[in-house]
Amino acid sequence: MDTYRRWPVAFVEGRGANLTDAEGKSYIDLVGGIAVATVGHCHPKVVAAITEQAQSLIHVSNLYENPLNEALAARLASLTGGMRSFFCNSGAEAIECALKLARKHATGRTRFVATTGGFHGRTFGALSATGQPAKQAPFEPLVPGFVHVVYGDVDALERELTAGEVAAVLLEPVQGEAGVVVPAEGYLAAVRELCTAHGALLIVDEVQTGLGRTGAWFAYLHAAIEPDIICLAKALAGGLPMGACLATPEVAAAFAPGDHATTFGGGPVQSAAALAVLDAIEEEGLIERAVHAGERLRGGLGRIFGVDAVRGLGCLLAVTLDRPVARELASAALAKGVLVNDIGSDVIRLSPPLVIADDEINRALMLLREAWDEVRTA
Ligand SMILES: *Cc1c(COP(=O)(O)O)cnc(C)c1O
Repeated sequence: MDTYRRWPVAFVEGRGANLTDAEGKSYIDLVGGIAVATVGHCHPKVVAAITEQAQSLIHVSNLYENPLNEALAARLASLTGGMRSFFCNSGAEAIECALKLARKHATGRTRFVATTGGFHGRTFGALSATGQPAKQAPFEPLVPGFVHVVYGDVDALERELTAGEVAAVLLEPVQGEAGVVVPAEGYLAAVRELCTAHGALLIVDEVQTGLGRTGAWFAYLHAAIEPDIICLAKALAGGLPMGACLATPEVAAAFAPGDHATTFGGGPVQSAAALAVLDAIEEEGLIERAVHAGERLRGGLGRIFGVDAVRGLGCLLAVTLDRPVARELASAALAKGVLVNDIGSDVIRLSPPLVIADDEINRALMLLREAWDEVRTA
């Protein structure tokens, strides 16, 4: 169906931060499959894990024990102070699980507070949480019970919480689709405090920001807060579809057998791939790499577009252009062999593989500068 405005290019091979198209031309990938290819394209460990697991067992359903799934849950627990996991197949599904879990846990409280500009996915629950009227309007009526407050506005959040009946507050620790909006210092801590004071759960959507992208295992760690529920997906299984909803044991206990389910979620192949991704992040120091590569990229972007035009955290960056030519810039960059993501008429987003090398960053910046010069003078 006509749901995407696709670029006229087909990639046939990927290695690290490099892609090759059907004509043999190579590209530096600053999109990373939309923040998915954290460990790089076709990471050898991930490829080996998928290949080996696919040769022994691909699927049995969740009716039976699944040691790989348990090993993955244990790894995620060790990264989150003992949270329990439900595995699914996408970010939107992780959000759906979080919303159902929060309502079941809250017994009687049915409202959710989310944020304007926030993005949580396209299924009805996730879309209802998504604070972007243009994405919602054609599909109304949506799931009832959602209100949105301005991202960063603590007073507005307090008013909604004081109004009562709030099961959970849902937000991204850095808004990704909205154009990489990093909240002011202290915002997430204030949100956490208010949720606790009003007995509402705090759900952090780390689908885009999680697993090293921002220079920490999770972006909420920059604010030193403890969420009740965490949603993951994108980078989790190295490009295979996988999401996870993590919750503290107390919150997770609200689900009993039969409350929530999935046929494919947490399957052996995805779980093996995810374990390989977590290994690679750890063994290759990719969280520190996200900080370093992010700084280098940011510095270079600042020299091209102006320091004030660039924002982000780690390797999740965006640039606001001084004119609405993001599509033209992405197109000119593509022609030169660099992928960037135009996410607004005047905004490009960069979420490269964290394995991107310094010389690849330098080259990508040089080509981006050429592309910008072309577009600017056109
Ligand atoms: C991509 C994204 C989602 C939705 O994930 P899908 O796998 O596309 O359903 C949800 N939340 C955030 C923050 C995202 O970036």
